[in-house]
Amino acid sequence: MSEVPSLAGLYVHVPFCLSKCPYCDFDSTTALDLLPAWLQALEEECRLRGDSFGRFDSLYLGGGTPSILDDRQLDRLVTALSRSFDIVEGAEITIEVNPDDVSPHRLALYRALGFNRISLGVQSLQEAELRFLGRRHGEKQTLRALEWVRSGGFDRVSFDLIHGFRADDHSTHRALWERTLRKALSFDPDHLSCYMMTIEGDTPFRRLLAEGRLTVPSEGELEELFLFTSEFLESEGFIHYEISNFARSEQSLCRHNVKYWDHSPYLGLGPSAHSYRDGMRCWNVRSVQRYCEALKKGEPPREGSELLSEAQLDLEKLFLGLRTRRGVEASLLLKRPGARHILDQLAASRLVEMRQGRILPTRRGFLLADGLPLLF
Ligand code: SF4
Repeated sequence: MSEVPSLAGLYVHVPFCLSKCPYCDFDSTTALDLLPAWLQALEEECRLRGDSFGRFDSLYLGGGTPSILDDRQLDRLVTALSRSFDIVEGAEITIEVNPDDVSPHRLALYRALGFNRISLGVQSLQEAELRFLGRRHGEKQTLRALEWVRSGGFDRVSFDLIHGFRADDHSTHRALWERTLRKALSFDPDHLSCYMMTIEGDTPFRRLLAEGRLTVPSEGELEELFLFTSEFLESEGFIHYEISNFARSEQSLCRHNVKYWDHSPYLGLGPSAHSYRDGMRCWNVRSVQRYCEALKKGEPPREGSELLSEAQLDLEKLFLGLRTRRGVEASLLLKRPGARHILDQLAASRLVEMRQGRILPTRRGFLLADGLPLLF
């Protein structure tokens, strides 16, 4: 990851999905009747926030399901963004797309509107697993979408994949995961996000788990899947640059997401979106209705804000840095009492390495990344 200070990132949250996947705890709704009001509110938020954040070298349409927007709605959204914000030439411009929304016509539209990176929510390339995950797309439809995306003129294509669930027994899932990875690689993505399923929030999977009708893999099984994924993709030439993210080359890193991990400024638009600059973080209301109501009155849809103290910023740098291959500056840790001793122990256990004044998590260290900062 580059040391050169980057420009800001612009994020737009499209909080709509056609149906809700049973494991998903993201901020999204199936109340599509709210979409026209959301779009109007977003145009108003662009007007309110325009000129307030400088220049942007990344734009990311995430969700929810941004590909749910029809041609006219997407055109309106992109027009509003480009009128209000200075998005520089050569910016990374990503749209998240569900496989069931892919068509040659849509891909041509994305290109015409300036998108140069597609993040495709593949999740699995096994029919039984897609059904278990409650996805709207089947294996055949997904493979066709992958072919269209690959022949659609996009150099930068990322696939989201999920592992670490138990549709069947562990060895079956492990074998199917390897098949999914191999099939995904045959479409030559330049980036992969491999998420481990977590059962969170008030989701149908959470309830099934509580009722004993869903089993989850053991810690050991999850560890094995994680290590296998990392070793396998690195052997295929990918850089494991963040716990869940793999890039074909330095140029393939997701420029937008890196901003979240290195405290670059970013502006988030839409319900629940967060913004950050110079130690100040603020976030929008989660409810789509409240978001629309605020903007109808010309008010910012702000839910809260916080100014991070130096100590809080240091702690965040530690948490975020130890999730990435870039790690953290050793000086950040060594000023904490007793840190040298803990570091020596972590290095002896091969969980971290010291290189050029930085502390870098190893592959096994990634596994414990959330717990490592708590040791200091
Ligand atoms: S499509 Fe994505 S955001 Fe929508 S419910 Fe499924 S996992 Fe969640």
